[in-house]
Amino acid sequence: MKCRACRGPAVIDLPAHNANFCVEHFLAFCRDQVSKAITKHEMLRPDERVLVAVSGGKDSLALWDLLVDLGYQADGFVIGLGIGEYSDASTGFARAYAEQRGLTLLETSLRDDHGFDIPTAAKATRRVPCSACGLSKRHLFDRAALDGGYDAVATGHNLDDEAAVLFGNTLRWSTEYLARQRPVLPARDGFPRKIKPLIRLGEREMAAYCVLRGIDYIVEECPMAAGNKHLRYKEALNAIEAESPGSKHAFYHEFLARAVDRFADGAPAAGEDGHLGACERCGAPSTNEVCAFCLLVERTASAVPVSLGETRWARR
Ligand code: SF4
Ligand code: ZN
Ligand code: ZN
Repeated sequence: MKCRACRGPAVIDLPAHNANFCVEHFLAFCRDQVSKAITKHEMLRPDERVLVAVSGGKDSLALWDLLVDLGYQADGFVIGLGIGEYSDASTGFARAYAEQRGLTLLETSLRDDHGFDIPTAAKATRRVPCSACGLSKRHLFDRAALDGGYDAVATGHNLDDEAAVLFGNTLRWSTEYLARQRPVLPARDGFPRKIKPLIRLGEREMAAYCVLRGIDYIVEECPMAAGNKHLRYKEALNAIEAESPGSKHAFYHEFLARAVDRFADGAPAAGEDGHLGACERCGAPSTNEVCAFCLLVERTASAVPVSLGETRWARR
């Protein structure tokens, strides 16, 4: 197995690209893919500041590393979700990476700063944990980006993630979600720009990138992800990809090139489903007097904290 670029010994094969690479050229390939995504979709200008949503997993740490390597002013932001040891370990990996590289990591803790955690929120709201978790992350990342004067929030969604979400949205013809499934959401109405620079790289590439760059990350899945539909969609797409390399890339990127605009009619414009004002408690943009995050705080802050074993979702 020889590197496509230098003909030296290769350490990784990428069937979707019909290529093998040595360490040096694989890392260059990853940088190139991120750079292409940023340029093609106009995600960031060189002089802009970006806040990376860091979880301690391979994707977000690799993304941070790649953005810094490409010369962007990228700081990290991690949220302590309170999901037992998983959250403690995840935050630990994010801190260790930032310390080793001398980078700035902003932090907040749901329990310490907002009075609740995800297992307790799931029980109090009787909804799956990912619902309260996603809402909290969006709210806190938006707020941190605006407070810190960042131009954009970058998330570590990779090609496998986006293809799985697209698969689920297509299975149900969820046209509103299809219309919004773009790698860049422009800043609007008090929300910062959101960007996904890893859309040209898959999970396997991100894991290899971290190993080759000496980045330690949390390998375990979140214990609350069990039963998550996207894991099943990923398995289905992996089976197709194994038979037909490049299918995931074509599925997602051809959707962006040829189809996403066709769903534009299905997406309500900002404020169309209600007047977009400011939350009376925290000032965040909201169609209601009190935003969804502040309501979540209200519903959960007085709830008795639960441990992971008490949530029915954790055992699914
Ligand atoms: Fe949050 Fe769900 Fe992801 Fe766990 S799997 S971190 S609960 S969104
Ligand atoms: Zn090489
Ligand atoms: Zn609010």
